Amino acid sequence: MGDAVSGIGSYINGSAECEIYSGSFSKPSEWKGINATVERIGEAISGTVSNELAHLINCYHAYMFETFDPTITGAISSEYYPKEPEYLPLSITEWDGEYYNKIIATQNFITLEQRATINKYFSSHSIRTISFANSGRCCNEKC
Ligand SMILES: [Zn+2]
Repeated sequence: MGDAVSGIGSYINGSAECEIYSGSFSKPSEWKGINATVERIGEAISGTVSNELAHLINCYHAYMFETFDPTITGAISSEYYPKEPEYLPLSITEWDGEYYNKIIATQNFITLEQRATINKYFSSHSIRTISFANSGRCCNEKC
């Protein structure tokens, strides 16, 4: 539904680019017929735009989990980036009741119906990352 073309964290070097594929929303039943409303399509497209823009300013899918902890063995790739959710340790990905409503939620963790109806928000990890990008410092003592 979208792609952060220039990659995670690319905003910092001034060449950030992402794409949203609006045609992706024309085929599933969640956006067809009586479900083809401005509210449902707008919610889904805005959620995808927010997800891709978040990648450009260094947010990772792992940040949908409030339980994400980079010090847990297996949480970080060999390049020191958070792993994609399907490769994270179970202790990080265990159900916390609400990861589907995070802006950085990704497929397998959010349904199409949730994309069409839920106004998502940033996790605490993403908020700290964005705060750091904006101010050059952390927003609280946790990071
Ligand atoms: Zn994403």
